[in-house]
Amino acid sequence: MLAKQIAASGPISVAEYMRVANDAYYNASDPLGAEGDFITAPEISQIFGEMIGLCLTDLWMRQNRPNPCHYVELGPGRGTMATDCLRAMAKFDFNPSVHFVETSVALRAKQATNVHRAQFHDRIDSLPDNGSMLIVANEFFDALPIKQYVKTDSGWREQLIAIAQDGHFHKVAGIQAVDHLVPLDIRNAPENSIFETCPIASDILYTLMSRLRAQGGMLLIIDYGYSRSGLGSTLQAIKSHKFADPFTNPGEHDLTAHVNFMELSNLAMMRDMRISGPCGQGAWLESLGINARAAMLAATSPTRAEDIFTACARLTKPDQMGELFKVMAISAQDWVTPEGFG
Ligand code: SAH
Repeated sequence: MLAKQIAASGPISVAEYMRVANDAYYNASDPLGAEGDFITAPEISQIFGEMIGLCLTDLWMRQNRPNPCHYVELGPGRGTMATDCLRAMAKFDFNPSVHFVETSVALRAKQATNVHRAQFHDRIDSLPDNGSMLIVANEFFDALPIKQYVKTDSGWREQLIAIAQDGHFHKVAGIQAVDHLVPLDIRNAPENSIFETCPIASDILYTLMSRLRAQGGMLLIIDYGYSRSGLGSTLQAIKSHKFADPFTNPGEHDLTAHVNFMELSNLAMMRDMRISGPCGQGAWLESLGINARAAMLAATSPTRAEDIFTACARLTKPDQMGELFKVMAISAQDWVTPEGFG
């Protein structure tokens, strides 16, 4: 589809390439799990979703149990995190309504089977406008289309994707000067430098922040990414748990980019939101008590103890998911600070 589109109308932006490729990819089937292309934290252990459930419950309780209060998830995958999270919440008699923002038809079917009371949304605009929202996005922002700008010998240009006669996709620099779109402090970067930005992430954040200010609640973002803006391409493709070439077979692998937590946090600062983090996923989970929960689970099922501790280490150790994955919370100023951020 992309090949035809580019052949017919010329080179397209990295964002358009990523959007079309990921739409096709996520709609074709379920890419998650050991037998799929990649594995996410909720698929590693039930403890991950449980810890998020405890964090949200604690926030809800300290905020004097607002009612209505909705559990919202962006890109919920198989619905595994929601299942674990809602089970943990129910132990405290917290049973919020459930709203999933999901575009994939294949994954929606799985989510509906796992979370019967889920209501589905194509876009965030249709989320309920009455009551507080506890919004969670695990590995959602990294799948959103990014734009890339490249420094050429005549200034900054948008990075575009073209197609060669032999059918191979390759990068070309756009014709228009776009220096004004690149932050001042990096405008003098050396030739071939790449600057990435994710306008869709900013749009989504803006809309959600307005809602949180008006309705109350929190947005919890968990993803891999960087806390300080930098230069360089982070666009990557994953197929069968291995890195693949992002410019071969688009639509057949997961295309992602590292999340720029600094960009998101700056936007939240400008809107005067309460910002917690970003901090490493490992430190956050440990501060919420993941080790105690793992020990408790291991004591009740001794035959699984080793697996439980291995999964826990995978989620928290700095050389595994503990540091590359970060957690950031953005909440309404009149809401209490969420736990876990030290
Ligand atoms: N949160 C899940 C799945 C992560 S994969 C987990 O941690 O296991 C990314 C998820 O985001 C998938 O469910 C995918 O279908 C969804 N997604 C990707 N782009 C989206 C978009 N623009 N709008 C809504 N959902 C999207």
